[in-house]
Amino acid sequence: MTSSVNRNAEAIRKYGLFIDGKEVPTDRLMECMNPFTGEPWAMVADAEEADVDRAVAAARSAFDEGPWHSLTATQRGALLRRLGDIIKRDAEELARIESTDNGKLYRETFGQWQYIAEHFYYFAGMADKLQGDVVASDRPNFFIYTRREPLGVVAAITPWNSPGLLLTYKLAPGLAAGCTFVVKPSEHASVSTIELGKRIKEAGFPDGVYNVITGQGRIGAALVKHPGIDKVAFTGATETGKAIAASAAQNLTRVSLELGGKSPNVVFADADLDVAANGAIAGIFGASGQTCMAGSRLLVEESVHDALLEKIVALSRKIRLGDPISSDTEMGPMANVPQFNKVLEYLDVAARDGAVVASGGAADSENGGLFIEPTILTNVTNDMRIAREEVFGPILSVIKFRNEAEAIALANDTRFGLAAAVWTQNIHRGHRVAHQLRAGTVWINAYRVVSFAAPFGGYKESGIGRENGLDGIREYTETKSVYVEMTGEPRDPFKLG
Ligand code: NAD
Repeated sequence: MTSSVNRNAEAIRKYGLFIDGKEVPTDRLMECMNPFTGEPWAMVADAEEADVDRAVAAARSAFDEGPWHSLTATQRGALLRRLGDIIKRDAEELARIESTDNGKLYRETFGQWQYIAEHFYYFAGMADKLQGDVVASDRPNFFIYTRREPLGVVAAITPWNSPGLLLTYKLAPGLAAGCTFVVKPSEHASVSTIELGKRIKEAGFPDGVYNVITGQGRIGAALVKHPGIDKVAFTGATETGKAIAASAAQNLTRVSLELGGKSPNVVFADADLDVAANGAIAGIFGASGQTCMAGSRLLVEESVHDALLEKIVALSRKIRLGDPISSDTEMGPMANVPQFNKVLEYLDVAARDGAVVASGGAADSENGGLFIEPTILTNVTNDMRIAREEVFGPILSVIKFRNEAEAIALANDTRFGLAAAVWTQNIHRGHRVAHQLRAGTVWINAYRVVSFAAPFGGYKESGIGRENGLDGIREYTETKSVYVEMTGEPRDPFKLG
């Protein structure tokens, strides 16, 4: 017994902070728990405010005067490309780390890390194509042009569900634009973010361009209010996003916020019901429902409600729960204890409000640990808490509608606006409805597809700003207008223009 405890203790890897290109050891450590085994598997630093100061100072000096500052955009692009190669080489290891840390399926994390490399390639190509304009000037004798300059030092604050991918949404465009970073990953899944630091160094990025401080939310809050930060790029819960926006406002620090959702998955009677059923399953049970874009409200046209329900209940009962690393597993555990408890609480809330369990509805006793059964609830109305609040777990609320107008009204009757899907074989209806849905991403006959080339972000309380694509890189720049006087003559000093 003692020796096995010792063996375990030896196997636990300790991670320090990553500041100015070096791992900085510390005695203040937090345990990282593997949500599948319930065992600690690594330890990460529990940073203090002084660490925030050091990390911001390193990023600040790298931005203001270090070698990074004088690289050309083409040289930055070359570094990003090299980083993409290294990530591709190490995708397996990084995916294993992430799946151990947050319980997400290895088949998904491996795919994500491979795709992360592609993000770096995409933004590598964009680095030296980010150009200003020559302005069509109305001012005689003035030549006016714009420059897109890097915004500065970015605080990237990320959640636990896809730490690597959601960091990359910020890092790849931000580095391409010439910014430097202090990253604060979630206390529930920090390790892949620290591991990335080694790869960034190996790729040849100058010290101080990428810094990581790990710790609780209070350390994120200290970072947000730090005067050395020019922009906060945040992904996480809506309530945290509001607190960050309020704090950032004190220094007028720029913010981009990728927040929560309660996304509608709208199935019309003219849809291919087998394909739609598959999409409903992907929408809510992919990543055990722990995704911001989860299709947690299934809006179904009355006439096909029972037929679709039968299909999704049958599919949900076949979902294989188990070890996230195993290639057979289709749903892993909840990523951490607070999240597990939150999902169970929502099952109670739904039952009290009158929702009826069509399948699942409890913790999964066979697998033990932090598993929740894939759950489908009927008899749900859009005003119930289960239909209005983000659960971030495998609970699907099925809601009926009578016609297209009602479907759109129900879909939009939410404080969120991150994503939505429409299922129909009528091309006119598909586009017509997509245009009326107040959400940053709409899929027609698909769910949970993302691309580095397409802007991603939320309407309403799902966020501010866009990540990915051309819109994504612009969030990491300031636009400067330069006026060049062309005559050399003095001008009327008391008149504008
Ligand atoms: P969270 O908001 O609790 O935490 C996110 C990060 O913010 C963590 O690193 C945390 O330590 C930090 N933090 C907490 N309080 C802070 C504060 N006051 N100031 C600064 N930082 C603070 O979110 P979570 O539980 O880690 O993640 C789940 C949430 O993330 C869900 O609401 C989900 O919808 C959202 N999410 C959104 C997207 C998106 O792209 N829109 C993607 C994934 C997850």
